[in-house]
Amino acid sequence: MRIAVLALQGAFVEHEAMLRQLGVDSFEVRQLSDWQQPKDGLIIPGGESTTQSKLLHDLGLLQPIREAIVGGLPVFGTCAGLILLAKSVEGENRERLATMDICVKRNAYGRQLGSFSTEAPFASVGDIPMTFIRAPYIEKVEASAEVLAVVDGNMVAARQGSQLVTAFHPELNDDPRVHEYFLSMIKPQ
Ligand code: GLN
Repeated sequence: MRIAVLALQGAFVEHEAMLRQLGVDSFEVRQLSDWQQPKDGLIIPGGESTTQSKLLHDLGLLQPIREAIVGGLPVFGTCAGLILLAKSVEGENRERLATMDICVKRNAYGRQLGSFSTEAPFASVGDIPMTFIRAPYIEKVEASAEVLAVVDGNMVAARQGSQLVTAFHPELNDDPRVHEYFLSMIKPQ
């Protein structure tokens, strides 16, 4: 199994380390020629979604990545990655991958609570540590998307078919279970 990790900006190294710990091969996507390699899944890291979407557009990656996801390539987006995958983001109409039927609020916790950690249940996995950094949350999901975690009444993880998103950063904690959950979504070729 080989996972593409979008490496334009943000916390991609931590995802690579987590995959390595799980014995899974990965490669970095920085330009179109990287993307053209064979892959079984894609991780879109946290960081700054505005910067990432601009780079995806400028590098000609937005359309091919969108097509691959719509075509069924399993994808895992954390934080900014969740924002990039959302069909709708409150108060914004920037270009995004927009493949997942969720409505998202960016920087949803305000300045006071910009970053925090907690532990909460993740569907079919159990209680996991969750690190939030200027995180979004999901305001609305369509029926096709399933909510996997809720913290303080806000939806913070969801799945729609082969698309998985978390508002928090599982790659920053020493618990590989969310990554294992993502890898379990990938069907053997
Ligand atoms: N606040 C960032 C954004 O809106 C996301 C933060 C993160 O990825 N940790 O893009």
